[in-house]
Amino acid sequence: MDQKREFLHHLVDQIVDYLEENNLKDTPVVNYCKANELKEKIDLTIKGEGIDFPEFTKLIEGYLKYSVRTSHPNFANQLYMGINFPAFVGEIITALTNTSMATYEIAPVATMIEREIIDKMNGIVGFKNGEGIMVPGGSHGNFSALLLARNIIMPECKKIGITHNQLVMFVSDQAHYSFEKALNILGLGTDNCIQIRSDSIGRMIPEELEKEIVAAQAVGKIPFLVAATAGTTVAGAFDPLSEIGDIAIRHNIWFHVDGAWGGSVLLSRKHRHLMDGIEKADSMVWDAHKMMGVPFYATMLLCKHKGVLFDTNSGGGQEYIFHNTDNMSYDFGPFSLQCGRRTDCLKVWFAWKFLGDDGYEKLIDSHFERAQFVVNYIKNNPRLELISPPQSLNVLFRVIPSSGIDEDINDFNARLRTKMAKEGKFLVNYAERDNGELFFRYIASNPSTTDQHLIDFFEYLLNQ
Ligand SMILES: *Cc1c(COP(=O)(O)O)cnc(C)c1O
Repeated sequence: MDQKREFLHHLVDQIVDYLEENNLKDTPVVNYCKANELKEKIDLTIKGEGIDFPEFTKLIEGYLKYSVRTSHPNFANQLYMGINFPAFVGEIITALTNTSMATYEIAPVATMIEREIIDKMNGIVGFKNGEGIMVPGGSHGNFSALLLARNIIMPECKKIGITHNQLVMFVSDQAHYSFEKALNILGLGTDNCIQIRSDSIGRMIPEELEKEIVAAQAVGKIPFLVAATAGTTVAGAFDPLSEIGDIAIRHNIWFHVDGAWGGSVLLSRKHRHLMDGIEKADSMVWDAHKMMGVPFYATMLLCKHKGVLFDTNSGGGQEYIFHNTDNMSYDFGPFSLQCGRRTDCLKVWFAWKFLGDDGYEKLIDSHFERAQFVVNYIKNNPRLELISPPQSLNVLFRVIPSSGIDEDINDFNARLRTKMAKEGKFLVNYAERDNGELFFRYIASNPSTTDQHLIDFFEYLLNQ
């Protein structure tokens, strides 16, 4: 045990050092290595003989050295970033206690915590008598919502399978690709995802939605779901939920809101107007591992109507796992598609307890302030071009080559991005528009990024 204690003490030092190194000037976001070179740097093979503690420590050092530092202030590449300390601790305790959310018996505290978080989130959303379940990621959450909607419109499906294939759903042309994947899994066919045109800043156009619904019905299709996006993945756009909700209600179609990215704006009184109309939704997905900064994944699927999750997801298990005990009604298992399910609620609870509603509101507001700083910087520099005015934290822009450089603007930006990723000082993603234009996508949700980091980032780009 002493060796383990010593090892863990050292590990704590390694962790703290790692986090402190993020703030040193010369610490890169990534030590870029080609896949072939990485194989040389770290001995990946598993041998007949095991290793001792000092070698174990070396493995950790190697892993940390060549992994991307998503907690680094110059990392803004994904929709998750930064480190939320209490949530990080929650992840450790989750591994330490290693249990499943299937039954109250095996996870008593976590079961009560997950209920608390579900009630809290439903209260914020406005689902007065709602229910919910944590799922492994936003894609899975969208899939689960489609499953609920499918079984509502085709109740016989759960037992006898799909009896006809006329179901269609509607999303904007900016929606996440998980919807098409979900149609594939559900046996409904990816062709039955009808994409609605979006406006110049990426919001679904409600009139187009209504037209497409009517057109689909006219050819015998059965609309079963309208999914609006609250915070699109590329542009951070918010579909007009209230108008879309009215259309869905008028046509009696399940209304789902994909708030994987943007759902957290509900925590801010200043910005929650972006989701006006959310209470009209039947279901919603909300990733706490994005704007709320919790390590992924920590995704909530909320549903306005109590009973739907059980009706759809329950089945089997009574013979060995769900026993008739005092607390059986608290078992989450029958509400979930999973058997073993992590206590993801713990890290969310730790983070929210630690920060409080006030702390979270401040955090979300500070993300928006950072995005505004980025926008202002771009607007004030003639060599930076804003692609579209952002609604939230995704700032899309490109760099115009300086006058001496005779290079196509797309080639220039592509070259810049590749160089940046290889040098590893900053990591910021890029995307392409339908017309082939390539642009940077700055995500302003890293709490450790200061104005000075942003200035350094732009100076780096402009000096190329
Ligand atoms: C990130 C994202 C998803 C997918 O969420 P994961 O947790 O990565 O599976 C779905 N929808 C939107 C809008 C997203 O931004």
